Amino acid sequence: MKKIHIRSFGCQMNKLDTALVSSALKDAGFSLTNGAKEADVVLINTCSVREHAEQRVLSHLGHLKHIKENKPDMVVGVIGCMAQRLGAQLLEHNAVDIVCGPNQIPQIGELVTEVLQEKKKRLAVTEKIRTASPDSEALEEFESAYGIADKAIPSQVFVRAMRGCNKFCTYCIVPYVRGPEVSRPPEAIIEQIKKLADNGVKLVTLLGQAVNLYQYKAGDKTYCLADLLYLASQVKGIEWIRFLTSYPQEEFYDEILSAMAELPKVCNYLHMPAQSGSDKILKAMNRNYTAGQYLAMLDRARAIVPGIAIAGDFMVGFPGETEEDFDATVELVKEARYKNCFVFKYSPRPGTRADKRMEDDISLEVKRTRNIELLAVQEKISGELSKEFLNKEVKVLVEGLSKKPHLDCAGGRNLPQLVGRTAEDWIVVFNGQEDLAGEFAKVKITRTSPLTLFGELAS
Ligand code: SAM
Ligand code: SF4
Repeated sequence: MKKIHIRSFGCQMNKLDTALVSSALKDAGFSLTNGAKEADVVLINTCSVREHAEQRVLSHLGHLKHIKENKPDMVVGVIGCMAQRLGAQLLEHNAVDIVCGPNQIPQIGELVTEVLQEKKKRLAVTEKIRTASPDSEALEEFESAYGIADKAIPSQVFVRAMRGCNKFCTYCIVPYVRGPEVSRPPEAIIEQIKKLADNGVKLVTLLGQAVNLYQYKAGDKTYCLADLLYLASQVKGIEWIRFLTSYPQEEFYDEILSAMAELPKVCNYLHMPAQSGSDKILKAMNRNYTAGQYLAMLDRARAIVPGIAIAGDFMVGFPGETEEDFDATVELVKEARYKNCFVFKYSPRPGTRADKRMEDDISLEVKRTRNIELLAVQEKISGELSKEFLNKEVKVLVEGLSKKPHLDCAGGRNLPQLVGRTAEDWIVVFNGQEDLAGEFAKVKITRTSPLTLFGELAS
């Protein structure tokens, strides 16, 4: 039996693709291994969103080239966004035997087998990805076959609601590497969730680049994300449902919030990136909303879903971002009172409108300073919000051992340290039996930090 090692870089979409590919290759008779050195085949699932992510992949390929010097038969495949972006250019790398784009992953088993047998390089990417019609049937079949819980985090899985993206934010590579937006049929999604629930899955996270804009026309009815949430809520065994990532747009917004308020299984958590607090920059990013409209949407979320936790993404150093523009972003973060937010330094991506038409005129030093400053503003807010949990009991879905399992939070009686999350996505660390992984637990919070709640098992 040939051994395959898969290394994944990037976002939740990539984690999902890695789970799909692992599941398909296991079904095709390969065994999975944790180390590249003992593998017959190494696959790297790549990300193109920032240059740094691509550089990490290239340096990993350099490392694999060394391993291959002593193991010339080892097959190396690059899958994902970087494979689609660089195509044949990547195949020229000495270490690389297979280049397979995100829309070709259903072919991965075949490609690996062919290269193992024929020792010839193989390229499978989409020419003209914005106009080519993807082989939706093959992708759908590949996706739907996946019904086994991913072992990475017990009881939790990602399920794709939508592929691709049509938003064309001027900085973003995703529409050019993942192709046009396509919503999956609701019955296929629900069937898949049922299968996953039968296999012990308790938390499903529905994925899409702008998942709140999910829409699928079937006869006279157009299904939106709220409909999916109602349907998924009826699946026996599923206890929590989340969705990622939301794009700030009015369409379907109130329906989704009402579904969240009404359906106990839908977690009160909204990840809705603002990217900037400056209307000038938002316009240059082609984000189609103003800071005021965005904040009004957060107010409505809080009015309709009391206790909702909101997370955001921001980009600093976008071309033309002045001190005043950055101050407007700081103001927005202060007003938004996110649970947490992710801050990225603008990185020009080849082929995007920002790269073609705007000069990357903010120095790395200024980007770094703004990044640190914005995170500090958010840290203060997260610290204030997390303190509200002191002495309260929270329900968590346990993920497994924490990063420092030997530590004791609050009189753990020599039990390892575990990590879990609340429905609102707060990270909770406590001591308990390792076999709690994948189960729900009640934890009494005894200490807090901005991003983590610490406590002891209450039951
Ligand atoms: N679809 C989601 C959305 O609209 O927010 C997220 C997609 S993207 C993979 C995740 C985050 O990466 C974005 O929210 C953005 O902040 C960041 N990002 C995207 N392109 C970037 C770039 N060129 N440079 C730096 N950060 C970028
Ligand atoms: Fe990129 Fe914008 Fe699409 Fe998100 S919505 S994936 S940021 S183009």
